[in-house]
Amino acid sequence: MLAFPAIRFYNPSMLAFQLYQLQGIDTRRDRLQAEIAALEAQLADQSAIEAAQAALKAAQAAWQKAATALRAAEAETAAVREKLQRTEEMLYSGRVRNPKELQDLQREAEALKRLLTQREDAELETMLAAEEAEAAFRQAEEKLRAVQHTRLQQESRWRGDLGNHRRALAALDKRRTEMLTTIPAETLAQYERLRAQRHGLAVATVTEGTCDACGAPLTPDILRSARSNTQLAFCPTCKRILYVP
Ligand SMILES: [Zn+2]
Repeated sequence: MLAFPAIRFYNPSMLAFQLYQLQGIDTRRDRLQAEIAALEAQLADQSAIEAAQAALKAAQAAWQKAATALRAAEAETAAVREKLQRTEEMLYSGRVRNPKELQDLQREAEALKRLLTQREDAELETMLAAEEAEAAFRQAEEKLRAVQHTRLQQESRWRGDLGNHRRALAALDKRRTEMLTTIPAETLAQYERLRAQRHGLAVATVTEGTCDACGAPLTPDILRSARSNTQLAFCPTCKRILYVP
């Protein structure tokens, strides 16, 4: 059996086409890898839920504090009310007959009534504050539930995308490996060097006599060379390998 000469390995215009195809694969791989990294970062980032949890915890503490203040205010009001009740009972019991004592009791009852009004006002304010604190807590609970719900939906979508991207990347990796066997090692090294130096793009297409990567016009000599079968041609400005579609 005759061995085929490795002509397509060393046919430069074919080589330029192969490198162009390889570039297409690598560009898609780069994009997929970036998207995979972004999705992985999104999945690892729990900050939205953590923030909602922290807000809920703070709202709970504030509500507890407000509830404690309300109980204290209620106790104070009750104490004043009880004292007033005792004073009035004494005042109207008929047991105290001394006018001076009665007058003192009367004054005390009036002072206690004023104090009770103050305490009741204060209690009402504390009650409103406690109600507000409870409403804020319920709101924070609702917010956390909403954030968790959104997160679940997002995660399911992100995991789906991640799976698709990983499968697409594996398929491209396989095609790339197959393709590498048809490109001379030296050319491949040159290609990889250019990719590293030129933001991932080693091969530039040519449109209307211009390098598509950097926009530089190409001389007729270079265009001839890019179309020829004898050598790879390079853009004189950005140094990329040229491919004429
Ligand atoms: Zn160029």
